[in-house]
Amino acid sequence: MSTAERIPVAILGATGAVGQTFIRLLDGHPWFRVAEVAASERSAGKRYAEATRWIEGNLPADVAALTVKPCDPAQLSSPVVFSALDAGAAGELEPAFARAGRMVLSNAKNFRMEPDVPLVIPEVNAPHLGLIAAQRATRGWTGAIVTNANCAATVTAMAMAPLHERFGLKSVFVATMQAISGAGYPGVPSLDILGNVIPYIGDEEPKIEREMQKMLGRLVGTAIEPAPFVVSAHANRVAVENGHTVCLSMAFEKRPSAEEAIAAIREWRGASEVRGLPSAPDIPLRYRDEPDRPQPRRDVADGRGMTVSVGRVREDSILHLRMVAMGHNTIRGAAGGSILNAEVLVKAGVIPRGARG
Ligand code: NAP
Repeated sequence: MSTAERIPVAILGATGAVGQTFIRLLDGHPWFRVAEVAASERSAGKRYAEATRWIEGNLPADVAALTVKPCDPAQLSSPVVFSALDAGAAGELEPAFARAGRMVLSNAKNFRMEPDVPLVIPEVNAPHLGLIAAQRATRGWTGAIVTNANCAATVTAMAMAPLHERFGLKSVFVATMQAISGAGYPGVPSLDILGNVIPYIGDEEPKIEREMQKMLGRLVGTAIEPAPFVVSAHANRVAVENGHTVCLSMAFEKRPSAEEAIAAIREWRGASEVRGLPSAPDIPLRYRDEPDRPQPRRDVADGRGMTVSVGRVREDSILHLRMVAMGHNTIRGAAGGSILNAEVLVKAGVIPRGARG
């Protein structure tokens, strides 16, 4: 698409940690251009550069000059809406945009578990986007809501996808070490997190325990049949800037050796629909042989933040196998994941290439 033909998009919650990541990732995007930014009444009416405290890199000049609008479909015209809204606001606002005919790509928790709403990591479950037709039929919307998962659930589900495909997961124990950027901006006070580990993240464990079965489930007709494994999650906040690390122990229907599991991870490229898309990494999962990897400091930028790194696959003395996985929470686990979902929808023709507000 030429620069003039790029599809205009709006970002809801544009001033927050995930909203800013959308703006960084969409700068120079070949298919989408940030036409509108919106946030709460606190920010509406200000120039974007004044409304936000920009965290990383250079704020693109064209976005800096935009006026922040309220999150009201009557005041925003873009056909594609990336939502980085706080859950307190998403529940009312995202359906209002879908009802008004917009394709809403959401990062909030509110609609992820609705039976007619796709919860998508496209390499893992692109066919689940087929739920959009059922959603439109049930709700009478001309737009739709497509969600991506909790950031720790995303990293975990990607790492487990090749193993579930080949060996069938039965039970999963997961302990997370989650970066502070996962708490938004300004997030956790420095005096609470520096030199510390906080063994609690509000509402995080239930999200991890319920979202993975939906993502690794199958679309049967117009419904998702969840994968039949159980999950026990421990969520911890650690003093890391970006990158959620998860330690996993797993039991399978068909017990693989560590070597078989490593081969499955190395060979996995995910759904063919995703290959070659602008935000798709060459390798969605990278297996690392070093005994002390993955590490957020060294591996979080792999695949421009879209590759999940896995290491330390070995026998487990309680379940069958254990391993470590790590991925970028605001890129693969949020904004980058949403953009990749939108790219799949453009490629499939669900978002028309010529879409205009
Ligand atoms: P954040 O930094 O706190 O940003 C929240 C955004 O929502 C801000 O732009 C804020 O605007 C806006 N907002 C708050 N209340 C609003 C209202 N009533 N009406 C309109 N806009 C409102 O949070 P975040 O970390 O970016 O997270 C955004 C969403 O993504 C959340 O649902 C979160 O759970 C999810 N998520 C986050 C991550 C992550 O790694 N951070 C990963 C996956 C999913 P103002 O600046 O005007 O207040």
